[in-house]
Amino acid sequence: MSDDLFIKMVSTLTSLPGIGKKSAYRIGFFLLRADDATFKQFISNLTTVKERLKFCSVCGGLTEWEICDICSSSNRDSSIICVVEQPEDIFFIESTGEYKGKYHVLNGSISPLDGIGPDQLRIKSLIVRAEQDAVHEVLIATNPTIEGDVTAAYIHNILKEKKIRATRIAHGVTVGSTIEFADQYTLGKAIRSRLVL
Ligand SMILES: [Zn+2]
Repeated sequence: MSDDLFIKMVSTLTSLPGIGKKSAYRIGFFLLRADDATFKQFISNLTTVKERLKFCSVCGGLTEWEICDICSSSNRDSSIICVVEQPEDIFFIESTGEYKGKYHVLNGSISPLDGIGPDQLRIKSLIVRAEQDAVHEVLIATNPTIEGDVTAAYIHNILKEKKIRATRIAHGVTVGSTIEFADQYTLGKAIRSRLVL
């Protein structure tokens, strides 16, 4: 069939995170209709990113160099390390403008069902970094999921033994939402981490 190729492209696009069939069709048609120059630029941008970007040897974040801009910056507070599950989480935290410390990417979270234990994550290198004299706080910003919480608790225990201060980002009911729409796990967490007014 003549549309086999198109279907193949749609199935390639749906393998991307967050892209459903509808979006895949929309993107597919956009690419097909794009003029040659736009299409070539698109492909060349993707190729350049794939060829040039790598992961920072210190924090595990994205960089073009051996060590990323945040790790090598003297303007960032080296006394605090924020622990995240994925490199992209750094972008989200940076976009708030609220954090001026350094980062450490775990590359996932502890998930026995998926066969991911602490040894598969970048936890050892985190502890080595946290043991440096200059570090006074490790802010654990793993996701507010069961796996993220288990990972946070695991890291917290190791840091406690080593007498290194650990904090956890607050989680709760989404601002602008209502209690009615919060799931049980989120609402339970919000109640446990309630604030004194
Ligand atoms: Zn880095």
